[in-house]
Amino acid sequence: MSILKKLTPDLYLESVYELDVEKLKKNGIDTIITDLDNTLVGWNEPSPNSKLMKWFKNLIDQGFKVVIVSNNGENRVASFAKEAGLPFISKANKPRRSPFSRAIELMESKKNSSAVIGDQIFTDVLGGNRSGLFTILVIPINEKEFIGTKIVRQAEKMVLRSLKNRGYIKGEI
Ligand SMILES: [Mg+2]
Repeated sequence: MSILKKLTPDLYLESVYELDVEKLKKNGIDTIITDLDNTLVGWNEPSPNSKLMKWFKNLIDQGFKVVIVSNNGENRVASFAKEAGLPFISKANKPRRSPFSRAIELMESKKNSSAVIGDQIFTDVLGGNRSGLFTILVIPINEKEFIGTKIVRQAEKMVLRSLKNRGYIKGEI
């Protein structure tokens, strides 16, 4: 697989709330492996808000399994996941493949029925694609980030532009 392909999400959405649950189901997806910071809430928000709790509840009511996989530390991820009532993997080391396979094992799911959602091409999308999973990129919730992440964002913007120009990114599954 070319590096550009590995950096290309299968789906690119404004936010998690745009996710078409019916479409995912039709495509055989029953497990959502979601990033936390800037995907579900801003990186500095300690708790899930009520809109997000409703989104989780709807997913679970529709029969989805949901797991949080974050590169952030144990304290942050565990307390958020506990409030959300969801299982989690912290200090995940995305884009390595191991956190994704651990998440699939934890949820007793399968590769071909799992989707990854995240706001970063170089961790969430790259890791998900390397693992052979369906990948969904969302626009980061806020941009108040560490300088290292800001530099990565610039690189991501370049990659996204390049992918769009090549016609890789589509709005549909
Ligand atoms: Mg993130």
